[in-house]
Amino acid sequence: MRLIRYRVRPDVAQILSQREDNVDRIRWGSVEPGGYGSQLSRLKVTEFESDPFLVSGLAPQPTGQKWDLGQVELLAPIVPSKVVAIGKNYVDHAAEMDSDVPSSPLMFLKPPSSVIGPGDEIVLPNVSERVDYEGELTVVIGKRCRNVAAADAGSVIAGYTCANDVTARDLQKSDGQWSRAKGFDTFCPIGPWVETGLELTGEHPEEVGVSTEVNDEIKQAGVTTQMVFSVAELVAYASSVMTLEPGDVILTGTPAGIGPLSDGDSVTVRIEGIGALTNPVTVE
Ligand code: MG
Repeated sequence: MRLIRYRVRPDVAQILSQREDNVDRIRWGSVEPGGYGSQLSRLKVTEFESDPFLVSGLAPQPTGQKWDLGQVELLAPIVPSKVVAIGKNYVDHAAEMDSDVPSSPLMFLKPPSSVIGPGDEIVLPNVSERVDYEGELTVVIGKRCRNVAAADAGSVIAGYTCANDVTARDLQKSDGQWSRAKGFDTFCPIGPWVETGLELTGEHPEEVGVSTEVNDEIKQAGVTTQMVFSVAELVAYASSVMTLEPGDVILTGTPAGIGPLSDGDSVTVRIEGIGALTNPVTVE
């Protein structure tokens, strides 16, 4: 299932406002599978009564309302209480950073205020000379948990989505600490939806392609089996430090091929079995 968070588009809201109040409100739902390119806008959206991440463990209740995907504006599919991220988790990316692979997961946090949705602008701050994209497979937690064993990680994962761990590379180097470099507003695009059908933990995790395109040119192309620490190990590690809440995310690291973004670029993180997250780039 593909879980989304959305508003109806302004033109649809205008028509709707004649018979309904508060038409601009945030809604939750699911999108039927399949569809590529122009077919995507015709996919059917089933609206839910409430946020499925607030009723963890319960099946979301449909309202009976359906939309075409083209009638809605997708928002970041979850509102995380925290964004956990992992650095240097692909061997070839660690190498391009002139760095060894860490002996345990290199964990950091991005502020929830950095999260934006599909189609929202990434804003390059004036204080940085170089801001990079980092396409990353992202784990979405479905259940409040602490000290989860790697073997049980699957039971606390709601699904997976795409994220872009946007990074001011020069500030990352000059600061040493990464909070500023990784923490600007708009530096964490997430979406387009949470795919609940992938099996990336357990004995035989699927191998999933993670790629990033800038202006339709492929810049990164990795597979999740190149990860140093697996999804299950990362959930175990993060939850050994902090309580994870439904809707929290873990960005699992980026493959090789990082590079800079410029004003006017369009950047897409594409993950096999999930979908594509596209954001335009602008300057402050
Ligand atoms: Mg990263």
